[in-house]
Amino acid sequence: MTHLPARRLLLVHAHPDDETINNGATMAKYAAEGAHVTLVTCTLGEEGEVIPPELAHLAPDRDDTLGPYRVRELAAAMAELGVTDHRFLGAPGRYRDSGMMGLPQNDRPDCFWQADLDEAATHLVGVVREIRPQVLVTYDENGGYGHPDHIQAHRVAMRAADLAADPGFRPDLGEPHTIGKIYWNCLPRSVVEAGFARLREAGLTFGGIASAADLPGLVGDAEVAARVDGRPYAAEKSAAMRAHATQIAVDGPFFALSNDLGQPLLVEEFYRLVRGEPGPGERPENDLFAGVEGPGTAEVGA
Ligand SMILES: [Zn+2]
Repeated sequence: MTHLPARRLLLVHAHPDDETINNGATMAKYAAEGAHVTLVTCTLGEEGEVIPPELAHLAPDRDDTLGPYRVRELAAAMAELGVTDHRFLGAPGRYRDSGMMGLPQNDRPDCFWQADLDEAATHLVGVVREIRPQVLVTYDENGGYGHPDHIQAHRVAMRAADLAADPGFRPDLGEPHTIGKIYWNCLPRSVVEAGFARLREAGLTFGGIASAADLPGLVGDAEVAARVDGRPYAAEKSAAMRAHATQIAVDGPFFALSNDLGQPLLVEEFYRLVRGEPGPGERPENDLFAGVEGPGTAEVGA
């Protein structure tokens, strides 16, 4: 029998780096506060574009060794965030990165986009019933911005939440567990636009500036259910982003992906609540666990 902390947070992401870009400050905050933070990453990100020229040989059309390299980047990022429980869906490399929507890689039989939904979700059911999280964080139904692996991660996370709660589903995977609150990542348009205004004023070194419309999960302010103030964890988030060096270039409070278009590095992180009730207190909520924090520790495992 293992004892886990009273507060347990599960995040489901598509590729190494998505967790830090979307939720790095949230993960650092809850880890620092003693919550159990579990990250499940669905692919190794084998199809990512490589930024540093000296690492270009890792690319899928050359050595095709970007996946194992990104496993190490993710481990380094998690060390920066203080997160010790990070896993890959099924096993490392079980599902391959599907590449951007419309590419031939989408049709590879081993890619995540082609995965059987219930089979993929079953791997996650085992994690849910083991960790018994009160809170799940994943993407919206468009995966934030339409990448097939993000859409699939959304589907797998939502399906696993349902299956994990169903006492008739695979009792061998543990006692059923209902996740109290499910959040989807989002970005309020007002915050993003203010961030881009800072970026234009700063005049930085990237090749250009992204547009707000390129960012995932843009919503109106009224749709934001929770805002996590990660400002005390800005340094941790920035360091974790730097750890994903094949994918992210960081310049102070800004960063760019492989398109070399600058965007603001946000340390306040935003969520829509799609299952469960908001906790008592202020709106938007400032604590993902508001209203669902369980008493004491959980006894998990056999
Ligand atoms: Zn991704």
